[in-house]
Amino acid sequence: MESIECQDNLTRTKIIATVGPACASKEKLRALVVAGVNVFRLNFAHGQHDWLEQIVLRIREISVELNQPIGILGDLAGPKIRLGILPDEGVECHQGQRFIFVKGEVPFDGVHLSSTYEHLVDDLKPGDKILLADGAVGMEVVEKPGDSELVCEVKRPGTIRSKQGINLPGAKLQTPAMTEKDRDDLAWGLKQKLNFFGLSFVRHAKDLIELRVHIEQLNPGYVPKLIAKIEKPEAIQEMNAITKACDCVMIARGDLGVETDISWLPVLQKQLIRHCNERRVPVITATQMLDSMQYQQFPTRAEANDVANAVLDGTDAVMLSGETAVGNYPLETVEMMSRIILHSEGSVPRRKNIDWKTDSKNRALVVTEAVTLGACTVADELNADLMVVCTESGRTALAVSRQRSQIPLLALSNSAHTARTMCLYWGVMPVHTPVVEQSPEEILNFAISWGTGKGLVKPGSRIVLISDSKWGAEGHDLMMVHVVP
Ligand code: PEP
Repeated sequence: MESIECQDNLTRTKIIATVGPACASKEKLRALVVAGVNVFRLNFAHGQHDWLEQIVLRIREISVELNQPIGILGDLAGPKIRLGILPDEGVECHQGQRFIFVKGEVPFDGVHLSSTYEHLVDDLKPGDKILLADGAVGMEVVEKPGDSELVCEVKRPGTIRSKQGINLPGAKLQTPAMTEKDRDDLAWGLKQKLNFFGLSFVRHAKDLIELRVHIEQLNPGYVPKLIAKIEKPEAIQEMNAITKACDCVMIARGDLGVETDISWLPVLQKQLIRHCNERRVPVITATQMLDSMQYQQFPTRAEANDVANAVLDGTDAVMLSGETAVGNYPLETVEMMSRIILHSEGSVPRRKNIDWKTDSKNRALVVTEAVTLGACTVADELNADLMVVCTESGRTALAVSRQRSQIPLLALSNSAHTARTMCLYWGVMPVHTPVVEQSPEEILNFAISWGTGKGLVKPGSRIVLISDSKWGAEGHDLMMVHVVP
């Protein structure tokens, strides 16, 4: 068997870490960045704005101190349906036991259950499934005696607790794409200039189009990247339109694994990654990647394989949730994830046979497309030590990223927001700098000094630079090879 060796110590697949009490201090956040985190996720389902504001402040300070862009993602909770209040010890649901869901809030009396969704009773009919406790507990509607009650029978026994999520797979729901709370969180997140917003429970492309309209109304001119969280079967049916309407996709395996038959999840994940890769929509694989590391310092073999397989399949980023938010070992988890990524990426070949879909909205200008493709080929041919791309919106960097070249890629942008959004793109090392406005010589000098500092560049190194020509016309791109004296 051929041995697999890493050329350098850099990881290309990006890591997103969810912030929570386990990593909220500045020291812990900084340690996570040093260990490999590129983007932090603020989960609006937990945490008040004033607490989250402190987190944003700390992340921005760390970014300045480490001289490294860090992206921030605000994850809008969407129309998540939850159980009402139950006794602290939870409620045991036994096989065949019957419960009655009612409209409005009722105190638990051993039989009657309430939910946060006012139309739950209206939207369900006998035969429909109600899944609780992340799918661990299952009920089926067996009777609808009137307009205000649903009689359900336990088909999969277990314990349910207050405020747990409810999944209603297959039901046609009247929930809006965004709740009042989402609008509030969005307005706050825009003020904080968050770089990405995730929308939970996306069902249709129009959900994202509406979100974009809200953003434009609330903060004209600021364009954060929109992440479609794929966790409903309806979204799978509409993937072509959804990938056109969003900037990135998250395979939100937590709810997706409840809303669809979990035995389909591995194949679905591969199909979704491929779908996004072909359209160069950055894709995040999320949830329970190293879940057992919440409680122990070492992952299971299955978890190590899970992270590696997502990397080998072409995910742009992998995400940690409870592991970093509330786990006992957030730092050890990120270090482990980085190591698995590093050792898996050594065997990812440069892409040759992908069926590129040309209708992607992330496609760059046709000249840029050709120049970036040529630049990757030239860099491979010359065994270059560094590729450098100058980019305003990040699209040129994405065009290089899609090639999955193993050559380190430095992306320079004069926009702090662009630099932060590129933190999510596979293989892209973003730097916010005004040098992109200077001559190619100045840009190369900057890249040589940056590359030398990182140990990537030395005398004799070949560098491939991709930039616009500064001749004023769109599509005058420049590709230059430089040998460091
Ligand atoms: C998921 O369901 O996998 C997910 C990422 O969403 P959340 O953490 O908001 O439930």
